[in-house]
Amino acid sequence: MKKTQTTNKKEKTIKNDKSSPTKNYENNSTKNHKSSPTKNDKINSTKNRENGSLNIDEKRKLALAIINRLKEAYPDADCTLDYDSAWKLLVSVRLAAQCTDARVNVVVKDLYAKYPDIASLAAADVSAIEDIVKPCGLGHSKARDISACMKRIHEEFHDQVPDDFDTLLSLPGVGRKSANLIMGDVFGKPAIVTDTHCIRLTNRMGLIDNIKDPKKVEMELWKIIPPEEGNSFCHRLVCHGRDICTARTKPHCEECVLVDLCAKNV
Ligand code: SF4
Repeated sequence: MKKTQTTNKKEKTIKNDKSSPTKNYENNSTKNHKSSPTKNDKINSTKNRENGSLNIDEKRKLALAIINRLKEAYPDADCTLDYDSAWKLLVSVRLAAQCTDARVNVVVKDLYAKYPDIASLAAADVSAIEDIVKPCGLGHSKARDISACMKRIHEEFHDQVPDDFDTLLSLPGVGRKSANLIMGDVFGKPAIVTDTHCIRLTNRMGLIDNIKDPKKVEMELWKIIPPEEGNSFCHRLVCHGRDICTARTKPHCEECVLVDLCAKNV
């Protein structure tokens, strides 16, 4: 069901992305990080971790090992918000704040039945949008942001969602998490979505050292996650966070495919 604004994300390349943080990864790279960590690497990392946090090369090796394991465990992980165009993902991700993706997917059906395109949603009264989206919670502020965002895309961008990170970030109601999601899922560009699962799991795994601020986590992850892996890695963290490394119960480490890699900072 997922389609993009104009182009399938698999057809996009990351090479010409001016906002790409690829350099962040490359500048800190001293080795060929494409290679998988060896058994000895893993043992050394574990030893070093006993004395404190890992250094950046150790974290990169650990990150690659975790990425590979999660790829095997969740080969088809993808965004769980339903959308068939870029602007709908923008709307859904705003509605998803403090709400489940499942509920958002239900609510947007009514919204798009009444307002099937950017122009109609931009012209709608905020109160009429609020009436529909209030089951997602924070109805007024979400409706206000959606209205302002659609107006700007309609008036300034001719109904095209911008494919530039900083421009996305300037839209009403769009934060770094949302902008990264759009960049990765819609435009196929490097992205790291630091949602609650990403922050919890990367801290537990020892990839991040007790950092909870989403932007700081994102910046630390850019240093150790290959840019082309970031988007899928974050989707897989959501799956793993929901299934195994749960927030509300003790994590199910005994069932976890990462049990021999993870620092288990729980
Ligand atoms: S080993 Fe435990 S803490 Fe680590 S990722 Fe798995 S479930 Fe989470």
